[in-house]
Amino acid sequence: MKDKIIKAIKKEKELSCYEIGIEISSDKIVTLTGEVDNWQHVVDIGHIVAKVKGVVNVVNDIRARGITIPKKDNSQKIKRVRQEGNRKKCDIVIIGAGISGCAIARELSKYNLKTIVVEKNSDIAEESTKANNGNIHPGVLAKPGTLKAKLNLRGNELYTKLSEDLNFDLVRSGSLNVVYDKSEWRKMLGLKFLKKSKLGNLIKPARQFMKVPGLKWLNSEEVRELEPNLKGEPIGGFLMSTMGLVEPYEVCIALAENAVQNGVSFMLNTEVLDILSDNGQTNGVITNKCIIESKYVINCAGVYADNIAEMAGDRFFTIHPRRGAIAIFDKNRKGYFNRPAGTRSGRSKKTNSKGGGACVTPEGNLLWGPTATEIPSKEDKSVEAEDMDYILKLGARVTDEIKKSEVITFFAGIRAADYKEDFIIGMSKKVRGFINVAGIQSPGLASAPAIAEMVQGIIKEDMGNMPVNKSFNPIRKPKVKFRNLSHEEQDKLIKENPKYGNIICRCELITEGEILDAIHSEIPATTIDAVKRRTRAGMGRCQGGFCGPRVLEILARELDKDPTKITQKGSDSYVLKKNSRE
Ligand SMILES: Cc1cc2nc3c(=O)[nH]c(=O)nc-3n(C[C@H](O)[C@H](O)[C@H](O)COP(=O)(O)OP(=O)(O)OC[C@H]3O[C@@H](n4cnc5c(N)ncnc54)[C@H](O)[C@@H]3O)c2cc1C
Repeated sequence: MKDKIIKAIKKEKELSCYEIGIEISSDKIVTLTGEVDNWQHVVDIGHIVAKVKGVVNVVNDIRARGITIPKKDNSQKIKRVRQEGNRKKCDIVIIGAGISGCAIARELSKYNLKTIVVEKNSDIAEESTKANNGNIHPGVLAKPGTLKAKLNLRGNELYTKLSEDLNFDLVRSGSLNVVYDKSEWRKMLGLKFLKKSKLGNLIKPARQFMKVPGLKWLNSEEVRELEPNLKGEPIGGFLMSTMGLVEPYEVCIALAENAVQNGVSFMLNTEVLDILSDNGQTNGVITNKCIIESKYVINCAGVYADNIAEMAGDRFFTIHPRRGAIAIFDKNRKGYFNRPAGTRSGRSKKTNSKGGGACVTPEGNLLWGPTATEIPSKEDKSVEAEDMDYILKLGARVTDEIKKSEVITFFAGIRAADYKEDFIIGMSKKVRGFINVAGIQSPGLASAPAIAEMVQGIIKEDMGNMPVNKSFNPIRKPKVKFRNLSHEEQDKLIKENPKYGNIICRCELITEGEILDAIHSEIPATTIDAVKRRTRAGMGRCQGGFCGPRVLEILARELDKDPTKITQKGSDSYVLKKNSRE
């Protein structure tokens, strides 16, 4: 295998000059060491090695000249926590309150198990889960035979019931691949033939596509009818009608709140510093606040999942952060497009996008993006000028009308990609009770309910018998969304509680009543951004310029804190420096 790996690397002209250290473990995990000229080469080598037949995964320790990735030293903090001796006990610890951690927590709340979710940030859904396109992908694009492909299909299916039970918005808009050139259209018709004749089942790359329901081929009139604002003259279109749209943080919050209603505890501002294990069995975690003893530890730490696996003593993959930037537009273009619309026509094969294009949120904002850029830092969420240009070009493939001045903000999220580019979900072979839910890049949001189901299955198999939580209630009550009510309903609500008559965010029409609901919810909003994610206050055109100070005042009053102690998003992100007048 080593010879094959060397040959594969040397085959690439740009990489052939490097001397790379290669170690192969008995379970076919390849560890790479050495130094190369730039970060892209680090990533390229990791990918090449992962593709060599027989390689199970890659630990990539190659350094890029001039780039230092700081390693955290938790030893002093761990010493302090051990000395303080604060302890908690539970059955299951989940590390990370993104969509994966929260979906698993809710799934496990169906059983009589004591589950604690620990999250290093001041709120849930603060990382990748808040910064994505919100697409519940139909599953067409996932590589056949991968775990991603399987869980995407199942996850998509599960979303309908989940949205009904948890009362979050799910719009089954479908998504449209618009075809402008004849050669692309011939390919599309080829796919149609494979699907209708079922011959695609005999061709490996077509197998995933054969499993996706609701695929439709449209002529130019049908395309125009669906999306009258598309530019140019489409020849036809390919509609994937099971595509769903959600606000991703809304789904995550709904899952977490329902998990709390059913007995799960959340510990925010709580960072896992180490994993405890003894004789090949995990027995909990050490956090910055206390030691939590547990029989199972589930690693849902996103871009830090490889660091957590290393703490457990089972580092067998590397997460290489891949940043995705997105532009969001004003709601005054609501209805311009009704569904995600992109085109492959005229695209070069070598592109730094996974094929993003124009997208829509359930609230009606247009989104352009995302980009896909390999970066060394797991924290670098900056949006660079070239990202902005690229994103605007993505939108321009399907419309010339929407201009840069209509963008209200750009944001970026980081995909937690491993070198196999697949989800890694399973019990560690070295540490029993330690379960990885890693490499959860796109379609991680779409797959989350299916990921949760799979993890539940892993625990059930290990435990033998999982006692059912007889009082499990799957329903989370709907939240007040004042903006969506009729005038009569608004009047009635204001009569019952005048706080719903006090508009705080003018752009999005968000009331004081809704902000109070968020602050006093199952997972209380304690920062300005947490209020924003729960209510939309600050998400409009002015991006909180008007309502930000008012939200801060309400938070200070309700939490009984000095306004100078209120933060934008936890830790030291204070908004006010000092009281200028007493
Ligand atoms: C630009 C972009 C667009 C995307 N679009 C889509 C899409 O349209 N559809 C789709 O299905 N998927 C999409 N994805 C992928 C999707 O966002 C992710 O797959 C998903 O959010 C991953 O969720 P997670 O819970 O696994 O990770 P995260 O959301 O990153 O959560 C991990 C959590 O672990 C916490 N954590 C880490 N270390 C520690 C520690 N030591 N102690 C305590 N807590 C810790 C973090 O703070 C974080 O909250 C997109 C991703 C990006 C970046």
